[in-house]
Amino acid sequence: KTQTKFSIKESINTLLYMIKNQYSNDNIKIEVDCEDIIITGYENELKQALLNILNNAKDALLLKKEKEEFEALITIFVKKVQNSLVIEIFNNGGNIKDEIINKIFEPYFTTKFEHQGTGIGLYMTKSIIQTNMKGKIEVENIKDGVKFIITLNI
Ligand code: ADP
Ligand code: MG
Repeated sequence: KTQTKFSIKESINTLLYMIKNQYSNDNIKIEVDCEDIIITGYENELKQALLNILNNAKDALLLKKEKEEFEALITIFVKKVQNSLVIEIFNNGGNIKDEIINKIFEPYFTTKFEHQGTGIGLYMTKSIIQTNMKGKIEVENIKDGVKFIITLNI
């Protein structure tokens, strides 16, 4: 399979168009700030990788909504930094506990027992980003939420 050139902005917009009804029904606001950049890679795989992150954000936001009233927010920020494309995805659904933050990319690791999590999502995402596309994925707790940072070669 060969990599193709595509616009990251169009790709993200297509993905968001697919999920927007579902997320707005759940009262989750998605804000996007994306530079219009052409990258080379596996477009469908990248969309799947981003979707896995968004779905986890949604799960965290819905879980927090069960406990308190707040404005559930996901932000997507895409920018070019030197020869890289950086994609940051943040949600304000609370932090990931320090004891598990190093395990979330492992296959079958899940905390969603009562919701039948598979623990496959982030493992798949990491494989796509790091193995297939030679990029990097990191996670950090910031403020009242979690930020995933993806770095890809352009
Ligand atoms: P699953 O969603 O099936 O549990 P994933 O591989 O997608 O599996 O995620 C693994 C675990 O990482 C989740 O069970 C959850 O504990 C944690 N996690 C991932 N993303 C977030 C997030 N945005 N906020 C809080 N926890 C998260
Ligand atoms: Mg998941």
